[in-house]
Amino acid sequence: MNSVTVRVPAKVNLQLAVGPLRDDGYHDLVNVFHAVSIFDEVTATAETGMSVRVEGESADQVPEDDDNLAIQAALALARHAGRSYGVNLIIRKSIPVAGGMAGGSADAAAALVACNELWGLGLPMDDLLEIAADLGSDVPFALLGGTAVGTGRGERLTPLEVAGTFHWVFALADGGLSTATVYAECDRMREAMGEKVAWPRAGESLLAALRDGDARALGAELTNDLQPAAVMLRRSLARTLDAGREQGALGSLVSGSGPTCAFLAESEIHAGELAASLKSAGVARDLIIAHGPVPGPTVV
Ligand code: ATP
Repeated sequence: MNSVTVRVPAKVNLQLAVGPLRDDGYHDLVNVFHAVSIFDEVTATAETGMSVRVEGESADQVPEDDDNLAIQAALALARHAGRSYGVNLIIRKSIPVAGGMAGGSADAAAALVACNELWGLGLPMDDLLEIAADLGSDVPFALLGGTAVGTGRGERLTPLEVAGTFHWVFALADGGLSTATVYAECDRMREAMGEKVAWPRAGESLLAALRDGDARALGAELTNDLQPAAVMLRRSLARTLDAGREQGALGSLVSGSGPTCAFLAESEIHAGELAASLKSAGVARDLIIAHGPVPGPTVV
């Protein structure tokens, strides 16, 4: 086999509960991940060295050297296999860069799956998940797809049963937000307000809404502890979120560390109407209609 192409989805967090800051600088999280139908594509082609090229949505903001998470994933996989494999990766991006939708993690997961296949390693999912956890806390979920609760730094995953499909509108913003900066702002705001931070727990009503496929109930339960920090750093997000509520979204929140905002709709038709109203309200650079949950990386 000379070349393998893998399609990989973005994620939105349905609940992101951020616990107290730990001594190691990380936070304990409860993270309800949900994979949605916005896809990057990664093509891995056999080559002697390691190289990467990025095309599409905001490609100029993605490194084309060893800082690229997909290249790091390929290197980690080769190390795990104890061989000096080579690969050329071409990443076609549709997932917004630095948008809180884990695009880099998705590309890393896609590279693991593509190179496992290309190099004929046949490693089981458990081995890939172990390598993924070392690459970043969102990479294991990117391998899994569907809907899952992540605990720890987000990397300990329990897949969730979800009835039916949920329909979403994503409002893309100009420019990204750095995840580290948003966490730092969250810590700063909590300290300034003398907030006592509770131990994070998955919301029972949220899990029930997912089990029942109840979009209205899910809309009422969407929460993101990073949202106040993201809105503080990017004031225009408050207007975007308000516009979604005014236009009848069942629920709205900042996706992960932002600045992408997610709006839950009642149906595919409602998602189309909502996207059109948000477009005329002029509160986003672009709007994407998507659904979830969708499976993780798929060889195409
Ligand atoms: P997360 O929600 O996982 O914290 P994000 O979705 O906000 O992250 P990404 O799109 O993953 O953000 O990008 C974060 C940073 O990682 C960007 O500044 C980008 O330069 C860098 N990066 C490295 N590799 C990639 C990649 N393959 N795709 C996108 N960004 C990458």
